[in-house]
Amino acid sequence: MGLKDGEGGSGKRDESNTTRCGAATAGAASRGVGTAVDTTRSSPPVISSQKHGPSDGGVWCAPLPAAWCVAWWWHTSSARVVAPPGPAASQQAAASANRISRRVLRIASSVRPLFRLAQPCPGRVDCLAMGERIEYRDGRWVVPSHPIIPFIEGDGTGPDIWRAARRVFDATVRKVSDGKRQIDWLEVLAGEKAFKQVGNWLPEATLDAIRTHRVAIKGPLTTPVGGGIRSLNVALRQVLDLYACIRPVRYFEGVPSPMREPQKLDVVIFRENIEDVYSGIEYRAGGPEANAVIGFLTERFGAKIRPGSAIGIKPMSKFGSQRLVAKAIEYALRAGRRSVTLVHKGNIMKFTEGGFREWGYEIARERFGDKTIPEADTGDGRRETGTVIIKDRITDAMFAQLVLRPEEYSVIAAPNLNGDLLSDAAAAQVGGLGLAPGANVGDGYAVFEATHGTAPKYAGQDKVNPGSVILSGAMMFEELGWDDVAAAIARGLGGAIRARRVTYDLARLMPGATEVSTSAFAECIIEHV
Ligand code: NAP
Repeated sequence: MGLKDGEGGSGKRDESNTTRCGAATAGAASRGVGTAVDTTRSSPPVISSQKHGPSDGGVWCAPLPAAWCVAWWWHTSSARVVAPPGPAASQQAAASANRISRRVLRIASSVRPLFRLAQPCPGRVDCLAMGERIEYRDGRWVVPSHPIIPFIEGDGTGPDIWRAARRVFDATVRKVSDGKRQIDWLEVLAGEKAFKQVGNWLPEATLDAIRTHRVAIKGPLTTPVGGGIRSLNVALRQVLDLYACIRPVRYFEGVPSPMREPQKLDVVIFRENIEDVYSGIEYRAGGPEANAVIGFLTERFGAKIRPGSAIGIKPMSKFGSQRLVAKAIEYALRAGRRSVTLVHKGNIMKFTEGGFREWGYEIARERFGDKTIPEADTGDGRRETGTVIIKDRITDAMFAQLVLRPEEYSVIAAPNLNGDLLSDAAAAQVGGLGLAPGANVGDGYAVFEATHGTAPKYAGQDKVNPGSVILSGAMMFEELGWDDVAAAIARGLGGAIRARRVTYDLARLMPGATEVSTSAFAECIIEHV
């Protein structure tokens, strides 16, 4: 969020890096620490020998058929119990691994500070990892230098883009911190991969791991067809109460855009993520529920509804609206952004959308009164230094404004449906969804995600654009206070696009550009970090 292309440097190439972007081979192996659930390994697991900084340690695997290993590191870090894929995820293996880990933990605690363990989660193996947990205290993230971050690889092209993204994240963190910081990636299952392995599209263990580690990143997930969970993404958001969907939209020089001056658009959209149409209260036309609701509204309130109509209910609360607007204002203040615009259709839906507008102004006045000013009170339109102007616009007018005068808008706060429509329209103005990142954020929990789908027809071809998940990672690092990493990733991506070595989706729109694979594009980004 708020990342500027070329920020913090001129996009200079690192001459010591001998990999030329475009030269990388398809499906290059990923580097980095091993994952706690790593389905690419065969039993027993091979645990990565990479450690945090200079340290000594070892790995001990129980003889087969036991399904766990213990890895330990002295000096700087921790130890973990790792289970191999498949049956290892069973309750039995989990319980045995957990028993061992608790025993090791007890021993380890007696020899601190030489030796430290990641805290195990009861009954779980896949939340044990090297590194330390991210904490959330007094409304702030507390981020260790070696945080554990769970990831969901995603379905379809998810593994392709995740592999590329992880290379970019690891290389950037290493370079920017001189090797002092490192992410301990922890794979958690969701989607088709979870269904195949454990028979559940969204295992409770995955939700537990995200609850434990607080911040996660995910690739796209297939929406199960025919019953069960309506949408995994919606379920994740609701279960973890990730009430703000945050979508920064900005232009990268060189990306083909339908606009004459796409660089003028630089907005961060905060969209309410739980209520409104996402509350999912909808009844089929002619069904008993719809008929009952129609009957009730007609008899009780004299409402005029055509018989046989389908019914959708759109609840919007003061609580839900205000916490979203507050988050947008907090961000604007933190990022030095000049305004927050409330987008609503309050001229027609006076109590829901109109309520959003009214409650938005109210929370701005009550909680941020000394740091915000309503647009109507700004007189000549200028603001006092350090204050954020609170504006509001009716939804249809907002679409026109973003096209005609995008530079007048900075942060947007919107109810669910308005925000959904606006985010995609804005992304199209700067060159499409392929590069649009997103985050679902609550209080003390955040899941960052690629905004496109699984693009299944390209799965396993090392072909699609990893830009969306890479920029989502940049958002994640910025949220965690690693602004230097976020800026470097944006710089690297901007550099790769300026070098005109891009994936097929951009190459077909950029005359003279060279099409490169997903993994080669990642290498190109790394060269420009
Ligand atoms: P989609 O996967 O987004 O793919 C539609 C088209 O968008 C692709 O055919 C491709 O266009 C382009 N595209 C998508 N990702 C791209 C990338 N990384 N790089 C370049 N081009 C990309 O949408 P869908 O086919 O409607 O949905 C497929 C599955 O994804 C469904 O199960 C859906 O429910 C799910 N989905 C998940 C999420 C999520 O997890 N957040 C979001 C949306 C959809 P061209 O073929 O024209 O090149």
